[in-house]
Amino acid sequence: MNIKALYTLFTKYKSVCTDTRKLKENDIYFALRGENFDGNKFAEKALKQGASFCVIDDKSLENVSNKFVLVNDTLAALQQLANYHRRTFSFPIIALTGSNGKTTTKELINCVLSSKYRVKATKGNLNNHIGVPLTLLSFDKSLDFGIVEMGANHQKEIEFLASIAEPDYGLITNFGKAHLEGFGGVEGVIKGKSELYTYLKENNKTIFLNTDDATQIKQIGDYSKVLTFGTKSTNDCTVKFVDANPFVSLSYDDTLINSQLIGEYNFTNIAVSIAIGKHFDVETNTIKTAIETYVPDNNRSEIREISGNNIILDAYNANPTSMIAALKNFKQLDADKKYLFLGDMFELGDSAKEEHQSIVDLAERYFDENIILVGENFYKTKTKASTYKFSSFEDLKLEFKAQKITNTTILIKGSRGMALERILDVL
Ligand code: ATP
Ligand code: MG
Repeated sequence: MNIKALYTLFTKYKSVCTDTRKLKENDIYFALRGENFDGNKFAEKALKQGASFCVIDDKSLENVSNKFVLVNDTLAALQQLANYHRRTFSFPIIALTGSNGKTTTKELINCVLSSKYRVKATKGNLNNHIGVPLTLLSFDKSLDFGIVEMGANHQKEIEFLASIAEPDYGLITNFGKAHLEGFGGVEGVIKGKSELYTYLKENNKTIFLNTDDATQIKQIGDYSKVLTFGTKSTNDCTVKFVDANPFVSLSYDDTLINSQLIGEYNFTNIAVSIAIGKHFDVETNTIKTAIETYVPDNNRSEIREISGNNIILDAYNANPTSMIAALKNFKQLDADKKYLFLGDMFELGDSAKEEHQSIVDLAERYFDENIILVGENFYKTKTKASTYKFSSFEDLKLEFKAQKITNTTILIKGSRGMALERILDVL
């Protein structure tokens, strides 16, 4: 079946699903092939569960049901369908990528714009070659804005996602040391993420630019369709950092905004949401309320009070850049007693050894004691005698015999695969 015919089906049923466990009545089921599964094998099940149609790419199933729609490649069909649908939108798409803070920034922009407009954004972290198409297909004509998060861990990925989403506005949160393995070092990250800028420039679209970030300015070059934001008074939108103790406060348009986000690094995440709100005529006080009510979830720099301890749970993910940002922030927090639990950072390739060592060195420079490292990479680092290290969480659980920790401020940060939120049970 060609994309136009598929689109006619889509406009009738409107809802798409790729996982039979989440399928709803009348969803169009797309049978994707993954590393460990072949969605074609679940197509009959999908029909039984009420799917309106199943898009399949296993030719042997073609005649099993007249509700099976055969295409060459289901994933490509999903992506093409998403782009076809996107071209029917008359509202703008705002796209964002970057090494850190994409989801947080996306949620903040969503909060700010939603206070005045009809907006839909990427759900959770659905930011890859499947998530972006699904996001676009969840948008309908009634919207005023669509916000699309784009993630990548190798070159050409953002270029491809941009070609599907065709954004009208875009921004890059930052270039950091994340997914170094797939990108081939920091220069590779800058190149890969900048593919969003390339798309926007080539199509004469607008870029929101953080002028406090020299690398971003360099990447923009002499492109002029830019809306600037940051601390400089010459920006289109000027935002001043006030403090982060622990929550970030900032001032904009003579108004103090007290966020519920910790860490100075969240300042730019908030600043860009203000810049976008301002550009689209959201009132200052409405922006303030939107930002002040946003609370992060999913272990992204959350604050929890457990057994008399104040815990900064930042176990959602970690890479050298976000580790350094978190350590700096933790260092300058007012607290009598601090404990630091750090878990391995993944996907660093050849730089893993060096990057883990520099994090240890920084942590030991900032804090005299109570540093606990978990994971095979941290285990191999050179540490002071006072630093505890465990090669796995299981070892930590068995062996960690610190004095009962009370009245302490604790930072927990590590890559997703380390699932360091498990430490909460140990404390
Ligand atoms: P993913 O790659 O998983 O999609 P993301 O880019 O969407 O991640 P978030 O989920 O918003 O990022 O934030 C994850 C963590 O990154 C936060 O808990 C925080 O520790 C860190 N972080 C957020 N913003 C920044 C920033 N501007 N600079 C450095 N670290 C940040
Ligand atoms: Mg994300």
